[in-house]
Amino acid sequence: MSETMSGRDYSMPAFMHMKRNVLLNPGPSTTTDTVKYAQVVPDICPREKEFASLMKGLREDLVRVVHGDPDVYTSVLFCGSGTINIDVCLNSLLPEGKKALIVNNGAYSTRAAEICAYYGLPYIDLRFPVDELPDLALVEKTLAEDPDIALVHTTHNETGTGILNPIREIGALAHRYGAVFTVDTTSTYAMRPIDIAADNIDFCMASAQKGLMAMTGLSFVIGNRSMIEESRNYPKRSYYCNLFLQYDYFEKTGEMHFTPPVQTIYAAMQALKEYWTEGEEAKWARHTRVFEAIHAGLDELGFRDVIRREEQAGLVVSVRYPDDPAWDFGKVHDYCYERGFTIYPGKISTTDTFRLCALGAIDEEDIHDFFAVFREALDTLGVAVPVRYED
Ligand SMILES: *Cc1c(COP(=O)(O)O)cnc(C)c1O
Repeated sequence: MSETMSGRDYSMPAFMHMKRNVLLNPGPSTTTDTVKYAQVVPDICPREKEFASLMKGLREDLVRVVHGDPDVYTSVLFCGSGTINIDVCLNSLLPEGKKALIVNNGAYSTRAAEICAYYGLPYIDLRFPVDELPDLALVEKTLAEDPDIALVHTTHNETGTGILNPIREIGALAHRYGAVFTVDTTSTYAMRPIDIAADNIDFCMASAQKGLMAMTGLSFVIGNRSMIEESRNYPKRSYYCNLFLQYDYFEKTGEMHFTPPVQTIYAAMQALKEYWTEGEEAKWARHTRVFEAIHAGLDELGFRDVIRREEQAGLVVSVRYPDDPAWDFGKVHDYCYERGFTIYPGKISTTDTFRLCALGAIDEEDIHDFFAVFREALDTLGVAVPVRYED
């Protein structure tokens, strides 16, 4: 059976016995073995027709995930992590002399504002506290007072805290004042159901390693085809990250303008197959089970979360550090990590927090297993349970 080549044994691949890690960080997420193995394919030049036809199916599937009418919406692929999508949308969709409005209550919308600053784009950074929903009356007032605003951007699930923003309402306001609405849906896409038209979204975005439970390196913008075509004559502010340029190349050739992440695309196609098999509703129900198991485990230990429960997107729990001198996030992390569970620091500058996320190919059993290990970590460090807070 053994097939050898230059002294290497290619017969029984070691990857048949892949160790399974449970990632509770906000992406990349735990993947199935079938998605991992989908990357192991015969070498292919991505300029072959065979590969272009795969990408066509992938692009259509990505629109279907958000229930987009394929005559109205399209998807455009990029090679990069999720931030590339925010960069692409903001630098490509703003007409000359117009302004972007960032509805900002967290780290990812702050990133969008920073992108505007880096490109020298006129923008308003409309900031709200990270643990509160944006004030829609203030959003409307800002739009009403500034007719130059041509683009409104916000984040669906602010992954830094786990708060769910009212995108449908913000989108309705953007449209009332004639602005394009772009939404960073990186941490909800293919998890929390999205209906691109009903949710008043013109452009949304994600990358393969989050909701799709595939690999890092493939990101995509899903949006209104005629708006992309309209942007043809907008100022060209980037070469590699221009939305129209990439779209146009896809439409003319079926290919990505520059080398695509070939193996990552095979994994994403397998992940989409598994997405349709599991089904939107069942998948969201599974993430919800995981989320509830996280809350139940935290409640039992006395931990407090940062965002009001009813305002959480159901995917990320931001947890306050307990007021116990024995608590040491790094040590708890290492204890869990050595046992196959990855937990993640918080992203709130004013409060010490950590995060537990419900992304990925995991289920409530994994969360029960995690809490057994987490509890052991607390006991080992001598952290009192239930944990204490001074206020
Ligand atoms: C993960 C994520 C991104 C992308 O971050 P990268 O570090 O570029 O992968 C963007 N927006 C949100 C809301 C995210 O959760």
